[in-house]
Amino acid sequence: MSSIATVIPHFVGGARLEGTSDRFADVYDPSTGKVQAQVALASKAEVDAAIANAEAAQPAWAATNPQKRARVLNKFITLIYEHQQELAELLSSEHGKTVPDAKGDIQRGVEVAEFATGIAHLLKGEYTDAAGTGIDVYSMRQPLGVVAGITPFNFPAMIPLWKLAPAIAAGNAFILKPSERDPSVPLRLAELALEAGLPAGILNVINGDKEAVDAILDSEVIKAVGFVGSTPIAQYIYTRAAETGKRAQCFGGAKNHAIIMPDADLDEVVDALVGAAYGSAGERCMAISVAVPVGKETADRLIAALKPKVEALRIGAPTDPDVDYGPLVTQAAKDRVLEYIQIGQDEGAELVVDGREGKVEGDENGFYVAGTLFDHVKPEHRIYKEEIFGPALMVIRADDFEQALSFPSEHDYGNGAAIFTRDGHTAREFARRIDTGMIGINVPIPVPIAYHTFGGWKKSGFGDLNQHGPDSIRFYTKTKTVTQRWPKPAADGGEAAGGSHFVIPTMN
Ligand code: NAD
Repeated sequence: MSSIATVIPHFVGGARLEGTSDRFADVYDPSTGKVQAQVALASKAEVDAAIANAEAAQPAWAATNPQKRARVLNKFITLIYEHQQELAELLSSEHGKTVPDAKGDIQRGVEVAEFATGIAHLLKGEYTDAAGTGIDVYSMRQPLGVVAGITPFNFPAMIPLWKLAPAIAAGNAFILKPSERDPSVPLRLAELALEAGLPAGILNVINGDKEAVDAILDSEVIKAVGFVGSTPIAQYIYTRAAETGKRAQCFGGAKNHAIIMPDADLDEVVDALVGAAYGSAGERCMAISVAVPVGKETADRLIAALKPKVEALRIGAPTDPDVDYGPLVTQAAKDRVLEYIQIGQDEGAELVVDGREGKVEGDENGFYVAGTLFDHVKPEHRIYKEEIFGPALMVIRADDFEQALSFPSEHDYGNGAAIFTRDGHTAREFARRIDTGMIGINVPIPVPIAYHTFGGWKKSGFGDLNQHGPDSIRFYTKTKTVTQRWPKPAADGGEAAGGSHFVIPTMN
């Protein structure tokens, strides 16, 4: 029994389901540091039961025609919009991002659901008429069966929706294992999907930790797992998923660079960088965490312009409409950022703005860290090589464009990168030559829109297919190719079968 009054359950077979494992995790109010609820952590037996439930429900859903499935999704989207304010407040209360930012989290998820309502079109296969004499060839996309998504704390609406909407639209049943740090919104999404007409058992939410994840990975029933989270766990899931022959797309951490060319409009750059580095307390996989000014003059001007803006950042309760960003998600997340600030100082980077001093009056126990800015960071520094995932921007100075380009290209992570310039040729060179998956040209957070695909390279992404866009449908379906021949029977005047052929048929 949990000692806390509010216990967040699972959602299985179309209903909330109390956990039976007697294991719980604390869910905090990050603005006060107090525990506000506990979430049930599923045992292997509970996960297996949810999977069995999903397996039983899936064939009828797959047999429902795609347009009808899209109508359920449309209703689901309408319900999410109707509940957007309530969902945003709930999300903000567990995550700590501001309510307007939480609305954006929901919106970017819904946009992928909107894309997935085109499922009837997206599932269309290919057809070749008369590929050989009397032979046609066609392909079809079929659902995999039961599939899963394991998602991080930092986008508790968007990333679950990126996974579940295409999967369900394609005719699969889905097991969602959201982050145990902010589990309430995923649960509400499952309830809204049921209200929209999704059959019970098609969308299940299993709350939990490693035990639940391992049960998903060990299951022979689950055919694909989509993961988003930190790189070590992404690698673990990618490897373990392969043991049972699952498809896996596993997206990991990031260190996104922004190159600032001497010709860039510095006022615009500074505004863009401050939003991209400190929005959501830097807890975004597409946050800009490294600025790379080209040339000493650009670097000096950049630091001079950034410093007062970073010092002026307003932090406070995420419900306050006047704050720029709220607290980090947990004390552990805060401690990690504070530790990196110390590491940076010890390594010899210049701490231009120290966020450790920032307190929020009345909420001294909240998980707040004020804006932090480092200059003269070197490629060998740990604060440069590792992901901090907090409101800390660092400046690494480059002598010229070639050196600037080499920093993100040679970094272990390869999620996104941006360039600020007025020169088309430089921008084009950057986009073509850089070794990262998503590129912004005068755009600081280049998260592709829902009908293009999202995915990082190197240690930011493992697996073949990206999230959202056409790849999301490819990931959660399998292609079947049919070669058909309907000869006229010999009795009706057709050609008689010519006996067995022992040579492989070719197009000769
Ligand atoms: P995390 O890796 O701690 O957790 C992600 C998921 O994995 C959660 O559901 C969690 O319960 C589960 N998990 C945690 N430890 C596990 C273990 N030992 N075994 C099995 N499962 C485990 O990540 P997080 O802190 O929730 O999210 C932040 C990270 O996610 C950052 O590194 C960020 O860059 C990354 N992220 C990446 C993208 C992207 O698209 N590349 C998007 C968002 C976040």
